[in-house]
Amino acid sequence: MIHLRSSEEIDAIARGGAIIADLLDTVRAEVRPGVSTEQLDRFCEDFICSHDGAVPAFKGLYGFPGSVCVSLNEEVVHGIPSERRHLKEGDIVSIDVGVRLDGWCSDSAWTYPVGEVSEDALRLLEVTQDALQRALEAAVPGNHVGDIGAAVMATVGDRPYGIIRDLVGHGVGRDVHEEPQVPNVGLPGHGPLLRTGMVVAIEPMLSAGTASIRTLEDGWTVITADRALSAHFEHTVAVTGKGPRILTTAPHGVDAGASAST
Ligand code: MG
Ligand code: MG
Repeated sequence: MIHLRSSEEIDAIARGGAIIADLLDTVRAEVRPGVSTEQLDRFCEDFICSHDGAVPAFKGLYGFPGSVCVSLNEEVVHGIPSERRHLKEGDIVSIDVGVRLDGWCSDSAWTYPVGEVSEDALRLLEVTQDALQRALEAAVPGNHVGDIGAAVMATVGDRPYGIIRDLVGHGVGRDVHEEPQVPNVGLPGHGPLLRTGMVVAIEPMLSAGTASIRTLEDGWTVITADRALSAHFEHTVAVTGKGPRILTTAPHGVDAGASAST
């Protein structure tokens, strides 16, 4: 069932979303060579829990052990924070954060360069971020879910990137993952109709190689099958009569843009 949320409910989701936005902006300073993915996890958990009533929505979700997902380089999503994994100069790292506040969830992810990264890595980040932006713009009443995936595909165009199809965006509300599924590929005018009050997480994942993925033996970490670099950007957005309302944007208007640190 696809839920339609009132403006008050959307405001409530945005309150948790603002914490994520602030966190994804703040954690940028912690993303540096030598830092372990466990340290990033602890930083994020402490940050979230410093806000009254807010908890990391991913902790324990389906049994996930971390507070956030920290995925390095060829890892697409669901990287388990570890004190043995340290960031290195030239890596890219995605941090995927869910917050639950007052019974409402929000979900956002950003991929950061660690120090100086290659031109190719930067381009992948830029294109994935651009794909998210264009997909968000498609989240308007009267469009369909397929228009969102089509926007991702149009952004990628003929670049030799893989669009990860086996993982999808989703509705967000009382639970982190609700209906509908929001694929990163699609046909305009196809799929469920987007209606005012729908709240979805849009999350393009691109690889610099194949679109094929596999899951590591830890049961969680998803990597590109050819170990090509992968980037992931995500916002929770409400479909409204006034256009897409991004609920995981910082109130002070600072977005955690990948290019801002370079
Ligand atoms: Mg997420
Ligand atoms: Mg998500």
